[in-house]
Amino acid sequence: MVAYRAYAVVAGNLGSRVNLVQLVMLAGATMIVLVFLAIALHKAGLDGNRVGFAAAASFWLSTQSTWFGLGALTGSLAAAVLAAVLTPVAATAACYQIRNPAFRTLVLTFIVLSGSLPTIGPVVSLLRSDPTVEPVAMDFGTPTASRDLIVVVLDEYARGDALVEDFGFDNREFTDALAEEGIDVVPQAWANSSRTITSIATVMSGQYLVEPGQTYNLRDRRRIAAMVGGDNPMADLLRANGYRYTHIEGPAVDVECSSSPDVCIGNGLIDETTTVWLQSNPYVGLVTWSLGHPFPNTADDILGSLQAVVEEASTNSQPDFVYAHVLSPHIPLELDSSCDRHQMFAETNTYIGQIQCVNGLVLEALAGSVDEAVVVVTGDHGTVDDRSVLDGDPANWTQVDIKQRLGVFSAVKLAPECSTPSDDATLVTIFHLAAACALGVEPDPPVERTFIVEGIPTDANGILEIDLDELRSTSTKD
Ligand SMILES: [Zn+2]
Repeated sequence: MVAYRAYAVVAGNLGSRVNLVQLVMLAGATMIVLVFLAIALHKAGLDGNRVGFAAAASFWLSTQSTWFGLGALTGSLAAAVLAAVLTPVAATAACYQIRNPAFRTLVLTFIVLSGSLPTIGPVVSLLRSDPTVEPVAMDFGTPTASRDLIVVVLDEYARGDALVEDFGFDNREFTDALAEEGIDVVPQAWANSSRTITSIATVMSGQYLVEPGQTYNLRDRRRIAAMVGGDNPMADLLRANGYRYTHIEGPAVDVECSSSPDVCIGNGLIDETTTVWLQSNPYVGLVTWSLGHPFPNTADDILGSLQAVVEEASTNSQPDFVYAHVLSPHIPLELDSSCDRHQMFAETNTYIGQIQCVNGLVLEALAGSVDEAVVVVTGDHGTVDDRSVLDGDPANWTQVDIKQRLGVFSAVKLAPECSTPSDDATLVTIFHLAAACALGVEPDPPVERTFIVEGIPTDANGILEIDLDELRSTSTKD
């Protein structure tokens, strides 16, 4: 289980370009600490063997601690304490108990190799395997229109009824304000996948791409992540029809620009998830914990960029496709309801606070600028109380987990003559109708399906199709 989790975390983080940066940074941070440790031990009059073992043991601990799966801060502290206590113990044991030089070398090699294992597996898999996921091009027939299409994804934004049931929060003020802009909520919308990348890849391709009983490799994962970054059939179709594609990337791995968008509004090198991920390394964790989290490109930056792009798009003569991916209200919780940033884990930050923050920003970004445009404001999936299910076997999800995660906020503005989605449409239909409306073609939405998908479906049991009719029957109609 621990070994599998280790694999999943590294593999997940190898999915996009920033992850190589992450690995280098992690290795760099570890090396710096090792150098200081070696100097300190040398000054204490210890011999080369002991320094070598201390360094190796410390390296081993720092790589293993990344996979502890504890909360970032708890994990960092625990790992730092472990490293502080166990490194001298390991060094002492190595120098005094293992007198045979050959055996010492063997133990040292074992420590280093086992420390490297979590990284080796996925790298080999990445180099060796061929992808099986390849989306096919979309064909919508001959367009008769070219309305601007504005897509705003608010990651993990749950449906209104779930917000009432699970948080006691009534979101009607926001949905009423959206309705004034002509953006109408689909009250019982469902996501097509429990995970960000498969959910967005599905809506941007009209294809499900991963099926139960199949296994997928890291190149598949990378291909799917690239679709979230803009390398997808819907973007290709729109660009082929003269659209300029502006992608405002989210501050997270997997939601960054691919090479496809005409304009990429990017974030800094160290984004939110990189910081969170690096935090699992005890040394980096302690540094970021003490400094707070001055993240680039949080919701206010992204939706501020969106406002400027949308304003420009509403006045220029060319058709625009704009996609913005906002990580909030998804964790990390760092914003309060007024969008003021706080240190992570502060009590001021809540899921509902982040919802209220993005609500205000979305209205500011779109109000008055989307009269002529087709607009989708949507979550990619809902939230779930028990986050431990997310990376586990889909068979362990309860009915409550499934309903919470797949019930998703979604709202759409279409031209008056366009087909509207049913009250319990899935996202793939909502996106299809939006694109068809933008291009002025008769919609022909794909068959609706929905899935619980494990972090990375490298396991044939990692994908579970959910019966949509049954799921829909759990919604209370009002
Ligand atoms: Zn998501």
